Amino acid sequence: MLSVVGIGPGSLDLLTERARTRISSADVIMGNERYIELIKKIIPTSSEVIIGKMGTEVERAKKAVVWGNRKNVVIVSGGDPGIYGMAGLILEVIGDSDIDVEIVPGITAASAAAALLGAPLSNDFAVVSLSDLLVPWPEIEKRLEGLAMMGIAVAIYNPKSKTRTTQLEKAYEIFMRFRDGKTLVGLVKNAERVGYYSEITTLSDLPDFYHQIDMSTTIIIGCSGTKNIGGRMVTRRGYENKYDYVRVEETVNQSHERGDSVAAGARVWEQSKAIVAEIVSKYPLSEYERRVAGRVVFANADPSFMDLIVFKHNPIEKGIQGIQDGKTIITDIEMVKAGISKRYKEKVKCFVNNPKTREIAVKENLTRTAAGFRIAKELIRDNIVVIGNAPSTCLELSALLEEGIKPALIIATPVGFVNAADVKEDVLSTGIPCIVIRGPRGGTPSAVAIINAIIELCMEEERGGN
Ligand code: SAH
Repeated sequence: MLSVVGIGPGSLDLLTERARTRISSADVIMGNERYIELIKKIIPTSSEVIIGKMGTEVERAKKAVVWGNRKNVVIVSGGDPGIYGMAGLILEVIGDSDIDVEIVPGITAASAAAALLGAPLSNDFAVVSLSDLLVPWPEIEKRLEGLAMMGIAVAIYNPKSKTRTTQLEKAYEIFMRFRDGKTLVGLVKNAERVGYYSEITTLSDLPDFYHQIDMSTTIIIGCSGTKNIGGRMVTRRGYENKYDYVRVEETVNQSHERGDSVAAGARVWEQSKAIVAEIVSKYPLSEYERRVAGRVVFANADPSFMDLIVFKHNPIEKGIQGIQDGKTIITDIEMVKAGISKRYKEKVKCFVNNPKTREIAVKENLTRTAAGFRIAKELIRDNIVVIGNAPSTCLELSALLEEGIKPALIIATPVGFVNAADVKEDVLSTGIPCIVIRGPRGGTPSAVAIINAIIELCMEEERGGN
C-alpha cells in the first residue's frame, strides 16, 4: 500500500487523523528533511525513514511505487500533497498499473495562512506558484496578469528562494499595474511552525517586506472586498449586501475607527435582537408583523410602539410584492429617503427639493412636503408611499385619493402634536394597505424601520426564505 500523505503546515495538531494513522503504520516513510523533522515525534521507531532531497522527487516516486507493492509506504508532503506536492507525480509514475495508492489530503498553506491573517479567502480566490523550476516564467507571468486583472484574492506559493529573487518583484509590478496600491496584502512565514511571522500591509508597501519573504512564506493578495477588520484581513463574502449586521458594524466602525468595537457592535446587536424578540412575542401578530413591529421597537428603543403600530389590509405582503415588482418608493422628506436600505435606494424618490416645489407651495398655500407629493402625483399611483415626518403630506395624499390616485401601500408615521394623530386615522380608513403608528408619535426612524424590514423580508423570500 502506498499512501501520499499531507501533513499540514507544521503543527502536529493540524495533522488529520487519517494522516496520523497512516504514519503510525508505515513500514517506510519518505519525505524531504523538513517534513520528516516536523513529524518525527510520531514516526514509529520500527519505520524505515528515507530522506529525499529537493530535486530527487522523480527518483523517490519511482522507488516508492516499487516498494508500495510489498510494504506500507508513506510519502509525506507538506500541506496538501495534491497542491504543489507529490500526489500528481506519484500518480503519473504509477500510470495505469494497478498499484494500491491513496492520497490523504492535508491543510494547505493557503488555508493555514488565511486563518492566521483572518479570513482573506472568504470569496473567490486563486493559488499561484512563482516557482519557475518546472513551469516557464513567461507562462507564470501570463497567469499572474490574468489573475491580477480578475480582481480576486490570490495566494502566492513559492514566492522567493535564496536563488530565485526576481520573480516576486516581477509579480509585484504586475499586480501594481492592475490593482489599487491600497489593496491589502498578508504575509505569513512559517505558519504553524517555529519562526512564525505574519504581517498585513498594502500592495504598494509590499517591497518593504521583501527581506521577510522566503520559501516558507505564503503571500495573500487581497481584492477590493478585502478589509482590515479589527486588525484582521477579511474578504467580504457579500453578506453585507443582504443582511443588516453590516450597518451596525459600519456605524460602530465609523464612530470608533477601532477594530475591537466591531465585535462589541455585533454583541450589542445580538443582545438587542433578543430583547426585541422577547417584547414582540407577547403580541398577537403574524410572524412578519412581529418582524416589522420589532424593527420599529428596535429603532426607537421603545416597546410602547407595539401598542401604536397598526397593520391594515395585508400591507406587508403588498409591500413585499411591491418591492419584488420594483415599485417606486416616494418619501415625504430626504431624511426618510436617506435611511432606506441601499439595496433599494435607486428606486426611492423624494420631491421636496424639486425646483417646482417652492413655487407650488406658495401658489397653493401648501407645505413644501405636500407640494412635493403633488408633483409626485402620477408616480404615487400604484407605488409605495412612505411618510415619516410631515402630517401635511398625509393631507395631500387624501386629496390625491379623492382624485382617484391610489398607492399600493402607505406607510405613515408622521409626528407632531398638531394633526399627526388625525391624519393617520384618516390613512387607516382609506381601505388601502397601510402601516401606521397611531397617535402623535412616530418619525423618520419608524418609517425607515418599517420599509427596511419589508425590503429585508422580500430579499429573504427571494433567497428562498430562512
Ligand atoms: N503542498 C504544500 C505546498 C508546497 S509548495 C501545501 O499544500 O501547503 C511550498 C510553498 O508552500 C512554500 O514556498 C510556501 O509558499 C508555502 N508554505 C508551505 N508551508 C508553509 C507554512 N508553514 N507557512 C507559510 N507558507 C508555507
